[in-house]
Amino acid sequence: MSEAKIKNVTDLTGVGPSIADKLSDAGYDTLEAIGTQSPGELSSATGIGKDTCTKFIIEARKAADIGAFLTGTQLMEKRATVGKLTTSSSTFDELLGGGVETQSITEFYGPYGSGKTQFILQLAVNAQLPVEEGGLGGEVAIIDTENTFRPERIISMAKALDLDPDEVLSRIHVGRAYNSHQQMLMVEKVSEMAKERPIKMLGVDSLTGAFRAEYIGRGNLADRQGKISAHMKELARFGDLYNAAVVVTNQVLSNPAAFFGDPTKPIGGHIVGHTSKFRIYLRRGKAGRRVCRLVDSPHLPENEALISITEDGIRDG
Ligand code: ADP
Ligand code: MG
Repeated sequence: MSEAKIKNVTDLTGVGPSIADKLSDAGYDTLEAIGTQSPGELSSATGIGKDTCTKFIIEARKAADIGAFLTGTQLMEKRATVGKLTTSSSTFDELLGGGVETQSITEFYGPYGSGKTQFILQLAVNAQLPVEEGGLGGEVAIIDTENTFRPERIISMAKALDLDPDEVLSRIHVGRAYNSHQQMLMVEKVSEMAKERPIKMLGVDSLTGAFRAEYIGRGNLADRQGKISAHMKELARFGDLYNAAVVVTNQVLSNPAAFFGDPTKPIGGHIVGHTSKFRIYLRRGKAGRRVCRLVDSPHLPENEALISITEDGIRDG
């Protein structure tokens, strides 16, 4: 089939019904999803031979125009459209270069109780503020995998900003995902919603919890990493397409008695790290404060900010 006619996965050369099923069962039902994978990842996720996967990837990349070159000027123009979402802490905003950026994935990682969910909730309220007030003037979608979304917290945070709590709640769309498969499918649902509603922030709380619970043991690690990677690519694409902030949470294995590994290592390791443009490590500080450490940013120095979590929400520490 000629390139011009390739619109769907089933148009790729060599994709018959059984291969199409294998791809789709593993979550690869768009050309973008296939074209942004490596042959090894695609092969281990689908059970299709690596050489065949290589052919699919090359063809999908061409058809979906992945990897096209942009000039520096075009990239600067794209950067100029990046929005900055306030965290409600001015010192933390400063650390981030003005706030949480749109068109990027920002990852909050830290142990249980470090404040990851509180940040998601605060940003969900703030995203609704007008741009002049540090918001994105839009609506919010949250994929909640841990059942930790709390409308009561939204109400407190909204009231503290003099916003109408009912209106704020009505602009936050929460999808509860019970497993990683649903979690991945929900990105598609959000994309559909974004065609009709101005979704300017997408939160995933937690990004890795379901994957961690489902893919246990070394034998499943490659499969898990492949899925997380595909999921993150979809999230990044959403942020890019809709000029939205994508904010995800990730737990660290915080067992101080652990014999193996680094207790401050986020789940998903380098796969998550490479796709998140901003990674913030949260830990408890003195007197109930939280230390937010910016790790591995492409254009900002590694540094820390101190915040407090109050009844009103996130504030300077
Ligand atoms: P994580 O998602 O990282 O597990 P959370 O975001 O749920 O952690 O943070 C929970 C913490 O947030 C609580 O331990 C508490 O310190 C703080 N917190 C939650 N609600 C309030 C509130 N209404 N007032 C003050 N602090 C709160
Ligand atoms: Mg949480």
